[in-house]
Amino acid sequence: MAAVIEIRFHGRGGQGAVVASELLAQAAFLDGKWPQSFPFFGVERRGAPVTAYTRIDTHPLGVRTSITTPDVVVVLEPSLLRTQPVTDGLRDGGLLLVNSSHPAEELVLPAGGRRAAVDANRIAVTHGLGSLTMPIVNTAMLGALAAVTDVVSMEALDRAIQEFVPARRPENQAAASDGYHDVRVVGGTLPFTPSVPRAAAATLPLPEGPMASESSERYHTADWRTLRPVIHLEKCTRCNFCWKFCPDDAFSFDAEGYPVLRTDYCKGCGICAVECPPRAIEMVEEA
Ligand code: SF4
Ligand code: SF4
Repeated sequence: MAAVIEIRFHGRGGQGAVVASELLAQAAFLDGKWPQSFPFFGVERRGAPVTAYTRIDTHPLGVRTSITTPDVVVVLEPSLLRTQPVTDGLRDGGLLLVNSSHPAEELVLPAGGRRAAVDANRIAVTHGLGSLTMPIVNTAMLGALAAVTDVVSMEALDRAIQEFVPARRPENQAAASDGYHDVRVVGGTLPFTPSVPRAAAATLPLPEGPMASESSERYHTADWRTLRPVIHLEKCTRCNFCWKFCPDDAFSFDAEGYPVLRTDYCKGCGICAVECPPRAIEMVEEA
């Protein structure tokens, strides 16, 4: 009998959600299954919400639609739980896997269900993947996914990382292994053959909803922020570089020409700290 499983990834630009969906498909192929993966982009920039999909079948796939009723939702950035409808359409008996340092028991699902959590930020930082500001958590999350579902074997995931990840392969393999061993699950793991019959999904709206390109004047991006820039004015030369390079126009200036952070618009990407010539900006953890 054919078995199919549908996985939807939610992350922010720069975290590797799209690569995660592709890597999972590669690993499933190595496991002898029939996968497909594809992304949905809204605003294409670092820090913007990104959705990607992987569908895996034991037989050739005829379906090419986006995934509106996933069996598994993987959330690479926990703040998306508050700002995006990430659990929309998640099937009864499905599984929510979140990058979080909090216990899986604290994850809220509308109808109970399986919940899993892994501290992928810590794992990624431990293995030098990405930065403190934007850890690249995709391989840690895939390791966790391999542990809490039958969707892919750890051996195939390890091989896919070895063959398809362009850089830092040993570190990514180690992160996947840590994700596999560290993940905590409530409600049981998810078998490859979902026990719940599939419902027609055609009438459900896309989880992303309509997206328009607008500036953060309209869409406050502050709720994305996990790190916050602090300006040390004693070092500031009033060069305005922070204002020039900030992608969200999050700086104004006081009467003396010193920068003032407009916190409603700062998403915490850290570009200003990198570009500030005298290193007058420090990124600190959001309180
Ligand atoms: S103020 Fe700095 S950290 Fe905030 S959005 Fe602008 S560049 Fe990024
Ligand atoms: S880039 Fe640095 S030195 Fe230049 S105005 Fe901004 S904080 Fe000051």
